[in-house]
Amino acid sequence: MTTRPSSGPRSVALPDAITVKGLSERLGISPIEAIKRLMTHGVMAAMNDTIDYDTAAIVSAELGIAPSREDSGGAVATAVREDEDESEDAGAPRPPVVTILGHVDHGKTSLLDAIRETNVVAGEAGGITQHIGAYQIERDGKAVTFIDTPGHAAFTAMRARGAQITDVAVVVVAADDGVMPQTIEAINHVRAAEVPMIIAINKTDLPAANADRVKQQLTEQSVVVEEYGGDVLAVPVSATTGEGLGALLEAIDLVSEIQELKASPERLASGTVVEAELDPRRGPLATVLVRNGTLRQGDALVSGLISGKVKAMFDERGERLREAGPSRPVRIMGLEDVPAAGDAIEVFESERAARRIVEQARREAESASGARRGHLTLDTLFHEVSAGNVKELLLILKTDVRGSAEAIRGSLQVLGTGEVKVKVIHTATGPVSESDVMLAGASGAIILAFNVRTEPSAASQAEINGVEIRTYDVIYQLLESVDQALEGLYEPVYERVVDGVAEVRALFRSSRVGQIAGCYVTEGTLLRGDRVRLLRNGDEVIDTSCSGLRRFQDDVREVQQGFECGVVLERYDAFEEGDLLEFYHQQRVN
Ligand code: GDP
Repeated sequence: MTTRPSSGPRSVALPDAITVKGLSERLGISPIEAIKRLMTHGVMAAMNDTIDYDTAAIVSAELGIAPSREDSGGAVATAVREDEDESEDAGAPRPPVVTILGHVDHGKTSLLDAIRETNVVAGEAGGITQHIGAYQIERDGKAVTFIDTPGHAAFTAMRARGAQITDVAVVVVAADDGVMPQTIEAINHVRAAEVPMIIAINKTDLPAANADRVKQQLTEQSVVVEEYGGDVLAVPVSATTGEGLGALLEAIDLVSEIQELKASPERLASGTVVEAELDPRRGPLATVLVRNGTLRQGDALVSGLISGKVKAMFDERGERLREAGPSRPVRIMGLEDVPAAGDAIEVFESERAARRIVEQARREAESASGARRGHLTLDTLFHEVSAGNVKELLLILKTDVRGSAEAIRGSLQVLGTGEVKVKVIHTATGPVSESDVMLAGASGAIILAFNVRTEPSAASQAEINGVEIRTYDVIYQLLESVDQALEGLYEPVYERVVDGVAEVRALFRSSRVGQIAGCYVTEGTLLRGDRVRLLRNGDEVIDTSCSGLRRFQDDVREVQQGFECGVVLERYDAFEEGDLLEFYHQQRVN
């Protein structure tokens, strides 16, 4: 890595959010240098991506340039989870936390809304319900928390961050539509998370509803409902009429009872960020699901690289709360920055302790060695993997339409082998740009272009930086070449491109170079650096390279159609009149 020029700035004011390019300009370094430094902190950002103050500040501090905030607003922070010993000395029962998943349009949002509306606790109906990413209802004196960010993305994103916050997963299947691709995906996610599953067969009010068909389709996915002798509860519901919602809540109650969910309300709180945003008036607001302990107003908090103090807490109706026990979702004000969904939150005994932890985490993040990857190509991948140099194949995927991006990305991610994981670090539609090449160069990623071109400036950047750009127009071929590279079977395929053809019309001898064929160019152009196939009566006699090309007494680089010339071939001395010389070069086709 380059070091900061001594004439550069000594301090810099940075805004809450800045593009990588903007940051590099302020710091007086190249964008690629900025991208590389970000990578060493695990931030994959392209030139035009926006990063938050904290991240920018780390890069700046690394260069010996003191960062300061341009204004007093908050910023988005990338937090590093600090793992605390969380021994389950749990005692008191806690409410279950439920996530609703399912195919798009099968009614996840409608169900979440219907459950919330029919279970507003009496006396609290005055407050307007706000969307804060989670809510709690009370039914027969029992509380249930619902994560109100439907979709697998939230579920998976949180799991990817090690936050397993769901106790019960409800998979919604529309009775008229049946089991669809995302239903299967949802089932697989839930299985992978080892969370108990309940099926809600929704839209039973529709004439086309066919609950039996849904159950059969589920059986095909090895989800066997009770009626069919299995152990999965399936509840017919209608989010529209409210029918079956009580039964669904009973099923949730039953499944969670079996789990005997417990927590210790007396401990200092720990939790998970469900959703967070920057409020222009109130600063960073984070919806936190308390997992254990009790969160109180005034508590000192740490979330990754962010510290803070609970200045105020609100519930889903915007009501002030003084404390929040296990499984309670609360919106808190007072963090210094906006954490990311899935980040852990821990309470410490004092603000000083919290700050110390953050300082330490920051130092660790900064010193985390960012051993730069050498540049990787699909051809060298197997070798690198065998040598233990590569554990991950990083890919950048550019496609013509979003649909193909999703399909390819999904297929690529599962290609990984025991030794090497496949990770798509960036996906976008449109041509391969300079910014993509920079990201690839900095991260050691390979760019896969599907049905898109490469901008000329990007192509030359790639050439300079040795970044590999592979272009495909058939998904299968793209996947196959990545797969083969992973398996070490990758054999590059070349195609011969004929540049010119010449006919041998006379033979000469030179004491210095041996035999010279006097030729006439019948097609195209002969190039000095080409390879040459000598054909006699249609058969190939030799395939070698051209070692000399002359016009009269001069060595030339090329000879065009219609001209005569002298040709010398590498290691060949037996020309005959009438031989055809095919001048060609190899072009990579995969
Ligand atoms: P999501 O994409 O899974 O969140 O699905 P939505 O909750 O947005 O619902 C998709 C569509 O289905 C909307 O037009 C809803 O009004 C409709 N819908 C949801 N639940 C029901 C139901 O129980 N009965 C009927 N008839 N329509 C429903």
